[in-house]
Amino acid sequence: MAKNIQAIRGMNDCLPQDTPLWQHLEQVLRHTVASFGYSEIRFPIVEMTELFKRSIGEVTDIVEKEMYTFADRNGDSLTLRPEGTACCVRAGNEHGLLYNQEQRLWYLGPMFRHERPQKGRYRQFHQFGLEAFGIASSDIDAEVIILTAKLWQQLGLAPYVSLQLNSLGSNEARARYREALVAYLQQHQALLDEDSLRRMHTNPLRVLDTKNPALAEIVAGAPQLSEYLDADSAEHFSQLKRRLDAAGIAYTVNPTLVRGLDYYNKTVFEWVTTELGAQGTVCAGGRYDGLVEQLGGKATPAVGFALGMERLILLLQTLQLVSLPAATADIYIMPMGEAAELAAIAIAEQLRSELTAKRVILHCGGGNLKKQMKRADKSGAALGLILGADELARGEITLKWLREDKPQRTLTLAALPQLLAAMV
Ligand code: ATP
Ligand code: MG
Repeated sequence: MAKNIQAIRGMNDCLPQDTPLWQHLEQVLRHTVASFGYSEIRFPIVEMTELFKRSIGEVTDIVEKEMYTFADRNGDSLTLRPEGTACCVRAGNEHGLLYNQEQRLWYLGPMFRHERPQKGRYRQFHQFGLEAFGIASSDIDAEVIILTAKLWQQLGLAPYVSLQLNSLGSNEARARYREALVAYLQQHQALLDEDSLRRMHTNPLRVLDTKNPALAEIVAGAPQLSEYLDADSAEHFSQLKRRLDAAGIAYTVNPTLVRGLDYYNKTVFEWVTTELGAQGTVCAGGRYDGLVEQLGGKATPAVGFALGMERLILLLQTLQLVSLPAATADIYIMPMGEAAELAAIAIAEQLRSELTAKRVILHCGGGNLKKQMKRADKSGAALGLILGADELARGEITLKWLREDKPQRTLTLAALPQLLAAMV
């Protein structure tokens, strides 16, 4: 026997028993963002490697060790997208969507990062993301956060997630803070791990984003960015907090929240849950006013977030908040013999067109009544329709209830859709 080929580690199949929950989540997401006036954008899964290096930052986990990068046949360096914001900005610039315009956009799709696979952390995972371009004021930051809060409400997750908030300030404020932070880290060099020692000089803020619990105390004792905020960012942040208060959205200001990507400024936020162990961040985002220009466009303010679909699915499963029946058939048609098989094609088509919400399966593979009834039973259908040569000649079909103890009936083929509409 040939050896089985297995999926790549950290890249998951989504099986039919799980797709209804995914579809439910996707439907809630689409519906909610549409109600806020956001439009979908789709971009390729592969981009030039340079796009991610320039946007996410050279000294970040993603670019340093997580990207799936390969040479195209012509020698170009390409990368499977590890996130969507850079791609969205690239597409927006390329098609002139951003300059001097307001855009409310969303996307959904697979992302790729070569991480250590574990619960809630995969190498192919899916993000739903949203980006709002062209608005510099804190009202749009608030809108984006209010939208996420609405999502949790719609999904029944509101009691299980909480909002963390911080401001990264302007580039100049961060530069001043950086000096203070490096001085502090140098004093505690002996206690830092290898990554942090390296980052202390290349990208010290990243040290605050460490996943190493041994560094928690050092991080907690570090000077705080809030003490270095510029006046404009401080005002933006307090306005945002006032707006969230007005919207009744609770938050915790977390001074060590810096996010793992370089392009953020001013507002950053994360929604976290305690229900998923170490992988507790379900949604993360912030403002990135410099990115459009950094990627070759005209300066355009922007804010957005991405949420991890797998983590939300895990959360919904763990909390058992939704129970969705697996998709099953409604009507199963069993033709006996060739003449009936040929006639049944048109009958099935007619039922599918006229009973639009119903799932109609026409038995394939022949066999006697016993075999076909077995399949009908397995399909989950409520109704079986048996078409034999005699019935066909009389213009009739036999209806059998497959789940209920009701007598079988003979129906006129000519009126079949109307008769069934009243029953299923
Ligand atoms: P983490 O701190 O958990 O590594 P991150 O800061 O790298 O997350 P972002 O790049 O902000 O994550 O992505 C936004 C969201 O996408 C995360 O909050 C998380 O829900 C999800 N996500 C990120 N990486 C993965 C992954 N490898 N597998 C599953 N979901 C992920
Ligand atoms: Mg990460």
